[in-house]
Amino acid sequence: MAKFLEYQGKEFFKQSKIPIPEGIVVSTPEDAEAAAQQLARPVVIKAQVHAGGRGKAGGVKFADTPEQAHTLAGEILGMDIKGLEVKQLLVEEQLDIVQEFYAGVIINSAQEVRGPVLMFSPEGGMDIESVSQDKIATMNVDVIKGLMPYDTLNMVASMGVTGKALRQIADIVFKLFKVFQKMDCRSLEINPLVLTSDNKVLAADCRMAVDDQALFRHPELGIKIGREFLKEPTEFDLIGWSFEASDFRGTSYVAEMAAPEEVVKGGYVGYHGIGGGAAMIGMDALNRGGLKIADYADTSGNPTASKVYRTTKLIMSQPGIEAYFLAGFMMANQEQWHHAHGVVKALREELPKKPGFPVVLLLCGNKEKQSQEILKEGLADLDARIEIYDRDRVYDATFIAGRVKALVDEYHEKQSLS
Ligand code: GDP
Ligand code: MN
Repeated sequence: MAKFLEYQGKEFFKQSKIPIPEGIVVSTPEDAEAAAQQLARPVVIKAQVHAGGRGKAGGVKFADTPEQAHTLAGEILGMDIKGLEVKQLLVEEQLDIVQEFYAGVIINSAQEVRGPVLMFSPEGGMDIESVSQDKIATMNVDVIKGLMPYDTLNMVASMGVTGKALRQIADIVFKLFKVFQKMDCRSLEINPLVLTSDNKVLAADCRMAVDDQALFRHPELGIKIGREFLKEPTEFDLIGWSFEASDFRGTSYVAEMAAPEEVVKGGYVGYHGIGGGAAMIGMDALNRGGLKIADYADTSGNPTASKVYRTTKLIMSQPGIEAYFLAGFMMANQEQWHHAHGVVKALREELPKKPGFPVVLLLCGNKEKQSQEILKEGLADLDARIEIYDRDRVYDATFIAGRVKALVDEYHEKQSLS
């Protein structure tokens, strides 16, 4: 899912007229001080990371003066929150909070629902997970009929909200759903939605995640890779993603793991797993055997031969790799001949450029016999050092990784002799 930081999500709120506190995004203590000066009132300083629970982790702090903002910003920047380094802060006007509410929409993909669920609770804040069921109103929104303003008015009223706050909150919950729809979200939450001592209602936080499958409708978001990808994509990564973006049959997940400058120093394998768990088994075994992976790749979910072919071509394009390893450590129920065809086609094109190049292939599962024949016949005439394994070795990661290592060592030796 494409996740957004609080300040990014709040921009969408602003565009849709959901009130938000005034704030400025900064990345240094100096700028935090300047922001506090500009806001000219007490501020709250909030870590901008893709994680909830920042409050409890110490990533939300209150400053009464610009100098204090400087100090606290220095404390939060660089902090580790759930494994994420804080690099940006949101400096916002401090609110005098009377009550905290929760409002959110998620897609419930359960068979009985399969649609958006709107939620509201008068007991928002940092302990929302422990709020009892009867304090949370939920509504499955019929996407054909749509949501009506009276729906949210009834919903908020049903939780005992009265007076001036009722209409303001109902209006915000209604708009929240509109943003959710417009942006093709999987989830969109305000926690807390706050009522202030001067009777204003504002979104004090925002968590937003957009459906990856809908990103093509939102070029304005500028998201290069429509999936969980926790680093800045390289050219290699973007090429890998293009296989997915243009073909949703099966999955191909490819990521560069080592910088090309490192790979050429030696000890790196072009890595191609089948299935996430299997890929991990193979990687661990390789690492134990003293080799590293230049890339991580996983083609699974019954991918087409063309997808496997493109992935293999990309893996083989990495300068300096010393082997190609297809780590099919699984008895897949997908038809493995697609893998066999894709790998053979790519290797037939690439191996002639690399005489004696080490190749280790483990492939088993459904249509194994045919797949093995395709591999063996398809690669028989090539000048490469190819070893092909089947189900007899599927539990033998150490052995297989050992074979990769042996072939890499042999390859080294031959190259130093020539
Ligand atoms: P989270 O813990 O990652 O969800 O971060 P939040 O943005 O929700 O902040 C955590 C808590 O800080 C909120 O639940 C509020 O209680 C509190 N908080 C956030 N902004 C303000 C503010 O402007 N004034 C006050 N008094 N409290 C705030
Ligand atoms: Mn929150």
